[in-house]
Order: sequence, then C-alpha cells, then structure tokens
Amino acid sequence: MHRTTYERIIKIMKITFLGAAGGVTGSKHLIEVEGKRILLECGMHQGQFMVARKLNETLPFDVSTIDAVVLSHAHIDHSGLLPVLAKQGYRGPIFATDGTTELVRPLFYDAAHIQVEDAAYYKQKAAENPNVVAFEALYDLDDVKACLELFEPQKRGTTFRVADVADVTFVNAGHILGSAQVHIRVGDKAVSFTGDLGPSNRKILHDPVSTAGAQVLISESTYGGRLHKKQLAAREQLKKVITDTYSRGGKIIIPSFALERTQEILYDLHRLYNLKEIPRIPVFVDSPLATDFTKIFGQHLDDFDEETHEFFIDKNKNPFAFKGLTHTASTRESKKLNAFSKPCIIIAGSGMCEAGRVKHHLKHHIDDARNTVLIVGYQAEHTLGRKIVEGESPVRILGKMIDVKADIVSIRSYSAHADQKELITNIEKTPDVESVFLVHGDDEQAEILKAKIDEMGKPWTVHVPIPGDSHEF
Ligand SMILES: [Zn+2]
Repeated sequence: MHRTTYERIIKIMKITFLGAAGGVTGSKHLIEVEGKRILLECGMHQGQFMVARKLNETLPFDVSTIDAVVLSHAHIDHSGLLPVLAKQGYRGPIFATDGTTELVRPLFYDAAHIQVEDAAYYKQKAAENPNVVAFEALYDLDDVKACLELFEPQKRGTTFRVADVADVTFVNAGHILGSAQVHIRVGDKAVSFTGDLGPSNRKILHDPVSTAGAQVLISESTYGGRLHKKQLAAREQLKKVITDTYSRGGKIIIPSFALERTQEILYDLHRLYNLKEIPRIPVFVDSPLATDFTKIFGQHLDDFDEETHEFFIDKNKNPFAFKGLTHTASTRESKKLNAFSKPCIIIAGSGMCEAGRVKHHLKHHIDDARNTVLIVGYQAEHTLGRKIVEGESPVRILGKMIDVKADIVSIRSYSAHADQKELITNIEKTPDVESVFLVHGDDEQAEILKAKIDEMGKPWTVHVPIPGDSHEF
C-alpha cells in the first residue's frame, strides 16, 4: 500500500515507561499518538509499606490528559491505582476483558477497606505519638464505585477502537483468569504488551498464544533469569505433603494469594481426591476475598483448557467445589478452626503471611510439630513468609515470639509466569518485532534475559527501561 510522508509523520507512536520499569510492581506505561494519550495499566506499587506508600501517593502523569485506559489483567500491581484516577476526576473508558472486569470488583473494594483501616490506624497512632505520620487512604469505597462504572469489558480476539486513534485487541495471556496481552495498532505501526505472561503448559487456563505482528514488544521479565520445573510436579508434591501430615495427625496451613493460586490449589486437591490419592480431610478456604474470586472462576468456563473440560466441565462438575470443602465467611467461623482438632487443610491469605487470617492460623499452629506450613508462592524479602521459609525460629506473629516446630515445605513449581525459555519463544513468535522492552522484572532478572537474548544474536534490540524512559517509532 502506498503511504504518504504526511501519514508517516503524524503516526509516530511514543511509549513512556512509568512504572514496573526496573521493578516488578506499579505497572504503568503511556502510549501517545496523534495527540491522544492512552494509559496502559495503572498498577499499585507493593513492597515495604512506607516506600510503596510514597510511590503510590503521586501519579507520574496528569490524570486530566488521559483519554483512555487499557488494562491487561486484574492483579493489583497492574490495576490497583485505577480508583485513584476516578478520585482525581478521570471519567474516560477503562478497557479490560470480561473476566478482568469482574475480578477487579472484589479486589478494589478489598483494597479500599484495607487502606481506610490503615489510615484510621495511623491517624490514631499519630495522635498518641508525634513521630508517627498520619496519612489519607489512597481511595475509599466511593472512588471504587466511580471507577468500576468506567469499565468497558471486551471479548478476547475482537478489535475495538480506543481514543479514536488505536485499534486494540486482547489476546490470551494464560496468566490468570481474564488475563490478556494487549495488541495496539495505529495505521501500519503496532505495539504488543505481554502484560504478565503465563507458562506454556498453563494449568486450568488455556495456554498463552502469541500476538499478531508488532514492531515493538513490551515484555514482562519476572522470571527472565530462571527455568521452571514442570507444573505436574506440584500436584505430586502436594500429595506427599498431605499424606505425610495426615499420618502425623496434623493440619496443613497454606498461606495463599486469593486470586489464582487458591483456585489452583483447590483444582489440584479436587483432582487428587477424585483419583483417591489423598485421604479425604476437610478443606477450609478462610478468605472471603478468595471465596469471591472462586465464585467468579466458576462462571468463566470458556477460559478453561481442554484438560479442565475433560476432568470437570464435561462431567458437569465445578473444578473448585468438592465434598468436604468449606468457605468460612465470618471471623467467628475462622476462629472456630483453631479448636478443630482433626487433620485438615486451611487455605488463607495473605500469600506472604503479612496480613489477614493466615497470621492467626500460624500463631495457633506453627509451634506444633505435627502440622505443616505449606508455602506455594513467592515470598518477598522482609516478610513473615520469607522468614518462615528461611528457617527462622522463633518468629514474631501478632506481637508474640513463637517457636517454629511445624514442618515447613515449599512447592516452587506453582507459577503463573513464563520462564526464560518461554519468554524468548514468545518474542520469536511475534512477527516483525524490531525492539523489545523488558519490564516487570527485578533488574537482575531483566538483565539476565537481555544478556541471554544478546548472546543468541537475535535481530532485535533489547532494552531494560527505567521509569521515565521513552521510545518513539
Ligand atoms: Zn499478574
């Protein structure tokens, strides 16, 4: 097709990396084209409380200049500051898949509750101690309500117009329910963003697929320096932990992220029960947020892969519901579990043992050698989960030093992210790619991946941007 010089000049795309550049949280990228500004994600920074708090207080752009927002998936480090946009007066559309649109509802309300409670706590502390600084909640329930009204859910595979200039398509990312890669085309130019990319043999969900051709690929790099073990190994390890703990008459406490990891564990338990490979002991999901997410999972059968259909859906069974599973709602029900004397499995948040009901379960069970604490997710530095994994004893839980006598087991093969090999394969499968930007990885992981790609002599230029870096093409 003949292109005039004029067309080429006006269709310059500019991408600015504003968050999750040189780090794993606070994902935000700005796409500018023909005077329009499209915000790709508005994630919350996580990590040490006060450091993250400071980063989350100021958005690195003027909200009034944003024309549209596109979101890859529901995780809070990609979506968590969207209610701040609404609070600051943003009334434009937020495009996301159907699944993501449903998942952010309980997620945002939960985040707002936590922030309002934190702000009240620090306000009271500040009144008692002049060295403590009070702060406002980043957003409240009204801001969440205003934000949710802006969502315009889209089906994967269909192309929709954004800010009158871009044609956007969501492509399956195989990371969590509803997750998508984002393909943005303007004229003859295109940029693809992986969001978070799942591993190639994704459990429960369909495997990720590569996007259509794009000259620029923004790729996550969480595990840019690692190769995963097979996911099948996770179920075998889970079986051994349950069998061993059951033989000691103990309980299994699983600190778990409410979204995706809890459902993966339920799925594996269901499979193991059906195969009669583990004793039928009661399972408690002691997290109202995980319960809300699990309900949403049960309504998105199209997201599930052939295996999940074969074992569950085709037999009219919900993969995440089985005999002996109880979702505890109230705090009173949660407390009753302390007195439950028989072997059982308790799945509770938070995933890194820093907050939530799991702290109470650890307090009551970690000093008993019959029990097992099963770690199934990443534990960041300085968290209680990391201390437990590293064998610290005693540990401080809810203000009390407690000896760690329970068996501590980590299953590392649960992962919702592609590893180094899979990330490279994804780039290879993106036709026309010229420039690759590695985001959403610690510096070390992104640099290892860049070095690996450079060493392979691929015809792409690979960059590891820092916040504020831009690229025009
Ligand atoms: Zn994610």
